[in-house]
Amino acid sequence: MHKPVIVCLDLEGVLVPEIWINVALKTGIEELKVTTREMPDYDALMTRRLAILNERTLTIHDIQDVIGKMGPLEGAVDFVAWLRERCQVIILSDTFYQFAQPLMRQLGFPALFCNQLEVDHTGRILNYHMRMQNQKKHSVAALKSLNFHVLAAGDAYNDTAMLGEAHAGFFFCPPDHLPKEFPQFPVTKTYRELQERFAQAGDLK
Ligand SMILES: [Mg+2]
Repeated sequence: MHKPVIVCLDLEGVLVPEIWINVALKTGIEELKVTTREMPDYDALMTRRLAILNERTLTIHDIQDVIGKMGPLEGAVDFVAWLRERCQVIILSDTFYQFAQPLMRQLGFPALFCNQLEVDHTGRILNYHMRMQNQKKHSVAALKSLNFHVLAAGDAYNDTAMLGEAHAGFFFCPPDHLPKEFPQFPVTKTYRELQERFAQAGDLK
């Protein structure tokens, strides 16, 4: 008897575009284009982002408006639907529930493990709270301890611990340098390729 399969997916870069890049493009605030690729200190980055939003008096509602118009990547809705007919799907993301909400609606609200923003009654973002450190890896380890067969896919550095912890982990459209550093994770570039990998690794029909 096979163990039941859970697929853990990263969100940004796998199912939806990069949220902060789009917020930068749509608000015209250049400095919001800076990502973890340029600034490895995530706390410093988030603190600066929230300071910029407050300087410009942008509220959670302004940001949600931008995000609501983004939409998932082409083919993502069908890909998630295909997976959910065959196994359990959990999205493991370093984003925040308040940001992800408009996009999750378009994806049919699959399960999402992420973090929280602290917002006041006017919509001003006061602070951010990471639920725990390294949640992607810990989530996969916990699901394994519940006797699931866990598969995973992601596109960036913050996914590599999750891919390594899973029974099988795959890159999806990573930047060119990542597979050279982590050659153990097969690279997929289309949802079709990722479906084939998952189907084989999880014996999904
Ligand atoms: Mg990503």
